[in-house]
Amino acid sequence: MITIEEIQKYRAYLKYLDKKLGEIFKEQAPYIFCKEGCSSCCEKGEYPFSEIEFAYLMIGVQTLDRDTMKKIENNMENIRVAKEKCKDKKFLYACPFLINKRCSLYQYRGIICRSHGVAFFTKGKKLMVPACVDEGLNYSNVYDFEHQTISDEKYYKSGIKQEPLAHNVGVDYLTHNEMTKAIGLDFGEIKPMCEWFLRKE
Ligand code: SF4
Repeated sequence: MITIEEIQKYRAYLKYLDKKLGEIFKEQAPYIFCKEGCSSCCEKGEYPFSEIEFAYLMIGVQTLDRDTMKKIENNMENIRVAKEKCKDKKFLYACPFLINKRCSLYQYRGIICRSHGVAFFTKGKKLMVPACVDEGLNYSNVYDFEHQTISDEKYYKSGIKQEPLAHNVGVDYLTHNEMTKAIGLDFGEIKPMCEWFLRKE
């Protein structure tokens, strides 16, 4: 059970996170082609959410109107049915909070949502670029599709000054950094978002 004190800590952390991500997005701007109305990141994914992130998202749900809530409930039911039928190891789905290509809970969205769009390394040092690289979007100007890495050749040819991977902004870092240590923030269990909203109480 998440307490009010923990939510307050999480709010303080989000302020720090948004500032940090703002700097990173600015730094990575030559490689990022996110634009208003594009919801590619929210249309197919697992969306790992920690307990506190999901609790905060649910605070946001209380601010929604009935019509939007109905659409979300309908989306969740479709996800439940699709999940039951899914035979794949990974179950990918469109986020139920995406309504008319917009996040209905933008202020309350999770860490993965806030960092959608930038490249990072996983704990195992694997480079992850946003899936929209395949659509000619983020990092496609410097990505080596064959070797699944950043191409030095493309980077030097591009004439861009900023390095494409100057900072690693993986979720591991975003959830274990100087701020989370300073305020003692505990995120709780992390699992795909659908497992939170489909769980049986
Ligand atoms: S909560 Fe919002 S930003 Fe996050 S995946 Fe869903 S629609 Fe996208």
